[in-house]
Amino acid sequence: MNVAIFLDRDGVLIEDVHLLADPGDIRVLEGIPQALRTLKEAGFKLIVVSNQTVVARGLVTEQEVYAINAEMEHLLEQAGGPHLDGFYFCPHHPNATLPAYRIACECRKPRPGLLLRAAREHNLNLGASFTVGDRITDIIAGARAGCRTVLVQTGKQQAPPIETVEPLDRSVQPDYTCANLSEAAKWILALRPFDTAQGRRGSGQGAR
Ligand SMILES: [Mg+2]
Ligand SMILES: [Zn+2]
Repeated sequence: MNVAIFLDRDGVLIEDVHLLADPGDIRVLEGIPQALRTLKEAGFKLIVVSNQTVVARGLVTEQEVYAINAEMEHLLEQAGGPHLDGFYFCPHHPNATLPAYRIACECRKPRPGLLLRAAREHNLNLGASFTVGDRITDIIAGARAGCRTVLVQTGKQQAPPIETVEPLDRSVQPDYTCANLSEAAKWILALRPFDTAQGRRGSGQGAR
């Protein structure tokens, strides 16, 4: 099985400019390309999981979200970052402007649907994977999927909780809180010798 870092997009990888609709407004946060490279080289798949209410509001089409994500990846790679392994986003909202998106879906964080879908498609061991986000809704989604979680302070960590279809589970806390993704990567990699190295050794024993 594979291991992954689930990454929120706005406020973790790029500046949260609120309702990003124009690829020209993408601002990659400081240190992100290097932090992503470090995680990728350690064997993690990098999977972006994002609520995109802009689609439900009719401000951006799903195709335009793909274009924005492609531009972000282009900027990351230009700056020495790695290839990302997946993009998953929720276009829904319970009060969506566009009726087609007006559902209480399973994929809008804090629900874990995006992570569970990614886990099926990438054969992920969720218990050895991590979720990094700037909102408690990211942390709750990650915890519900069975991941360990890191809250970073580069985004909307101080903002009031976003509207959700159910009350937020106040008992959920991040496993670690730190300034940014670079610090998150250090914490994650420091855990690894106790975790996945054992898995590697185990799988190697039978092979030879
Ligand atoms: Mg965010
Ligand atoms: Zn959804």
